[in-house]
Amino acid sequence: MAGTKTLTIIKPGAVRNEYVGPILAKINANGFHIAALKLIRLTKEQAERFYSVHREKHFFRSLINFMTSGQVVVAILEKENAVAEYRKLMGATDPLKAEKGTIRKLFAENIERNAVHGSDSDENAEIECNFFFARSERFSNFDT
Ligand code: GDP
Repeated sequence: MAGTKTLTIIKPGAVRNEYVGPILAKINANGFHIAALKLIRLTKEQAERFYSVHREKHFFRSLINFMTSGQVVVAILEKENAVAEYRKLMGATDPLKAEKGTIRKLFAENIERNAVHGSDSDENAEIECNFFFARSERFSNFDT
């Protein structure tokens, strides 16, 4: 059975451009419950650990510099089939390839400064939610 949560990060470019409100509104309008939310600034160590799968990629250094360049909003989003549903709402990694109406089409600057992160599997959603949030900071509609 598909999971009910995913982790999103509203990236520094979108926070700087005052897109936090519009992006959260779109998330809510698409039926996601916000189960946890905070505004933080990632340390270099946190950003490197979070994106460690991309360590060997040509864009890794640039991505880390960008992700630590300002505040980010991190949030746990809940919905049935959350990972796939949110990736659909987010759109393709490259905003030039993202479908009309998606968050990245509307708010991204380019392939790196692409407005939001979304988990890519239930397994990673679990890891990423634990990366940012203690149990006491979560307000799930699904857990009993
Ligand atoms: P996502 O799951 O759609 O976010 O994509 P990936 O996991 O493949 O990449 C992680 C993040 O790295 C993306 O969201 C972008 O911010 C950045 N990124 C991915 N591909 C490229 C690229 O080709 N060039 C640059 N500069 N950044 C990239």
